[in-house]
Amino acid sequence: MRTRAIEEALAAAEAERRLAPDQALALADCGEVARLCALAEAQAIAGHGLQVSFSKKVFIPLTQLCRDVCHYCTFAHPPRRGEPAYLSPEAVLAIAERGRAAGCKEALFTLGDQPELRYGAARRALSALGAASTLAYLEACAERVLTDTGLLPHLNPGVMDEVWLRRLRRVSVSQGIMLETAASRLSAPGGPHFGSPDKHPARRLATLEAAGRAQVPFTTGILIGIGETRRERIEALLAIRAINERYGHIQEIIIQNFRAKPGTRMAAAAEPTLTEQLWTIAVARLIFGSRMNIQAPPNLRPDALAALIGAGINDWGGVSPVTPDHVNPEAPWPHLDQLRAATEAAGRILVERLAVYPEFLPAPAAAGPADPAASAAAASHGPEPGSAPGSTSQWLDQH
Ligand code: SF4
Repeated sequence: MRTRAIEEALAAAEAERRLAPDQALALADCGEVARLCALAEAQAIAGHGLQVSFSKKVFIPLTQLCRDVCHYCTFAHPPRRGEPAYLSPEAVLAIAERGRAAGCKEALFTLGDQPELRYGAARRALSALGAASTLAYLEACAERVLTDTGLLPHLNPGVMDEVWLRRLRRVSVSQGIMLETAASRLSAPGGPHFGSPDKHPARRLATLEAAGRAQVPFTTGILIGIGETRRERIEALLAIRAINERYGHIQEIIIQNFRAKPGTRMAAAAEPTLTEQLWTIAVARLIFGSRMNIQAPPNLRPDALAALIGAGINDWGGVSPVTPDHVNPEAPWPHLDQLRAATEAAGRILVERLAVYPEFLPAPAAAGPADPAASAAAASHGPEPGSAPGSTSQWLDQH
């Protein structure tokens, strides 16, 4: 049933006005998914034209140890006998090099959150690697990848303070953390985040705030279907929007659907329906407006790519031709030819982007020569004349 509040929210969306928080929250009771999607797709096209972007990436799982124990996760595991706790620098560079050879431009570092706080094996491994912490080791590896291969690092190491966000900015073009949810009740006993201190919404929102103060181009998003309500999804999106309106640093919002994985505590939990994901994508588009980049991972809904576009996304995220999705290993990324065909079948155009979106690139002259964003800017604006052999800009020129 359409209440007056829903009518007002839909009218505001149709006029492409910013939804006030109470208008956004009213959409929690709006079940008109087709109407929401039509409004959202119109906004996506108004903001991005017919383009749907992706980033060609290589996935570097620096460590699969984690201090947290999210009940749906198969990426993290306890230390295993005979298995190194961290990828060695040589292994990191070998993965990056494979990506470089396959035409990737993004090196996505995804890793468990500060495992040294939980496992002696992590502390001993870091000591042997000469690193004081996981973040310090990440910093060293990202710098090697940037300078040795020219790939542009995007870093996803979990909760961080402003000092670390600024340090890691030196060796990356963008960083991110999924908010997942703003519902702290999901951290209570029985909830999917019980026992995972870094998943408490307050800590993740504090990281988003710190990234804003540090002006780091930042990726975030929500995970749907882990027990939250529609209203709680909107509350999470509004919390992200409030921070972004203060700092303007959020470059993309991911709407990720929970997948039940064998061997986890949530193996038997129901996955969110496609309709539920379309509703959420559409509402996210209407909350953030036409210019925001809204993303859904194509490998988690491979049979519904046109529907995801029709709900208002304009980005597929990172797609790798060489490494699996280590977070969802059961869901291979589509071949780029398939992704292009599906995008075009939906009447849209597939375009490649860098790990940092064009609107977050500094003008090349404004960035210092050691700034990785300067290299990305050079790639976006064209190669720098006379660049040194082996430099990032030369590498980008060649690809
Ligand atoms: S989802 Fe992330 S934070 Fe949670 S256990 Fe897995 S790796 Fe750790």
